[in-house]
Amino acid sequence: MVSRIIPVETFDLVVFGGTGDLAKRKILPALFKRFCFGQVPDGSKVVGAARGELSTLDYRSLVAQALREYGGEMAQDSEKVSAFCEHVDYVAVDARGESGWTELADVLSPDVVRAFYFSVGPGVYSDLAQGLQRHGLVADDTRIVVEKPFGHDLETAQALNRELAQFFNESQIYRIDHYLGKETVQNLMAVRFGNMLFEPLWNAQYIDHIQITVAETVGVAGRGGYYEKSGAMRDMVQNHLMQLLCLIAMEPPAQFEPDAVRDEKLKVIRALDSVQPHHIVRGQYTAADGEMSYREDVDNPRSKTESFVALKCLVNNWRWAGTPFYLRTGKRLSARDSEITVVFKDTPHSIFGPEAGQHRNELSIQLQPNEGITLNVTIKEPGPGGMRLINVPLDMSFAEALGPKLEGTSDAYERLIMDVIRGNQTLFMRDDEVEAAWAWTDPIIQGWEARGDVPKPYDAFGNGPDDADVMMRRDGREWRGLDK
Ligand code: NAD
Repeated sequence: MVSRIIPVETFDLVVFGGTGDLAKRKILPALFKRFCFGQVPDGSKVVGAARGELSTLDYRSLVAQALREYGGEMAQDSEKVSAFCEHVDYVAVDARGESGWTELADVLSPDVVRAFYFSVGPGVYSDLAQGLQRHGLVADDTRIVVEKPFGHDLETAQALNRELAQFFNESQIYRIDHYLGKETVQNLMAVRFGNMLFEPLWNAQYIDHIQITVAETVGVAGRGGYYEKSGAMRDMVQNHLMQLLCLIAMEPPAQFEPDAVRDEKLKVIRALDSVQPHHIVRGQYTAADGEMSYREDVDNPRSKTESFVALKCLVNNWRWAGTPFYLRTGKRLSARDSEITVVFKDTPHSIFGPEAGQHRNELSIQLQPNEGITLNVTIKEPGPGGMRLINVPLDMSFAEALGPKLEGTSDAYERLIMDVIRGNQTLFMRDDEVEAAWAWTDPIIQGWEARGDVPKPYDAFGNGPDDADVMMRRDGREWRGLDK
């Protein structure tokens, strides 16, 4: 049995930057897969728009090539790919100039859902927004999808929000954070708010601390220019890790509806305490195994940009008072491993005595490389020798537990693009949320700049700088190991 496929309305989706890396690796494969599951209805169009002069046939070959490369097994079926390409068009448009807009208007249908995906550099967003309005391409329910980075700091994010607000209502703007589209991230809400078991324990009284890790093995080669101006704090913490933290920490929304959910997330960000300098560690990877160091990758021997950050923060509200949230993300670490772990407190009293040992319950939500949820429970170690306690996982690997039901489910981009077509903003960031996240991030980065802070070197393919472990040990805790 495959999962239930909900039909969507006929749509025109214009991908500005349709020849770029993100379009080829994520957006087009996502649309193709939804096509295979019947969610690109007859009459729908996917229109690539970029500066290059290409014929529609040339663009269809580019799309077919991208699908073969990034579209997985289904995209090896050339008939399916050709059938999808029948929906594909291309128009050369210069977002900053006047050429191409009339041709774009001509390929769009007047009566279908219309969305524009801004898969171009952030410097082009406001030109695009203006261009769309100036050329009469925007109706009341037209949507735009805006990629990260959304601003470089609070000031630029506010400016961008103001610019977009001149041309679009907030209900038309979909600020995408693909972490929110992951099945497990939504499962986090299902686990919290669909079970009686967890929510009564979900607070400072029963939870010792929470860890959020997003570890990658890749370095920044190939995108060093962008990364050097950004760093892990802007590239990962301000958006992805912050969003995960919000879903863990938020109060139950009254309904699973866009503003109800986003109001609760916003309250969490606003309740975040400012981070003390000794509660944050920055690092830069060194060279190893024939791989270049961070500084070599970005071609800047004096770079002060971090490729790793670990920090401790507190959510100053009734539910979480005194419960630390430890966030950690980095490049060139020993494993690709993203997970959230909720570590519960010790039992108040051990009836088995000190020899039995003491273990803590841990609920771990894995996002990468495989999605799943594990709950560690304490049981008796089997066999003779008295009462000794061990922790065993109650494991739920989605792939094992759900098997065929997973067929037809979508990855993050697929789900989020379909949400845009359906007009559902629940999993997209609102203007005030993005600004609140920058308002929290800015003072941290400004502090580094004011102090001339230099990130600590750390071994490539290791666990990050030792100082990150020291920070944990000071609190009598330790990071969970990165799963290889
Ligand atoms: P890219 O450089 O590979 O592609 C940029 C695209 O924009 C090209 O198709 C180019 O023709 C088009 N373009 C540039 N200027 C234009 C103009 N004036 N008018 C019309 N088209 C124009 O970039 P990318 O990696 O695909 O990234 C696109 C956006 O997505 C960026 O904002 C980036 O930060 C964001 N993003 C990318 C990734 C990724 O994995 N590549 C991940 C997350 C976010």
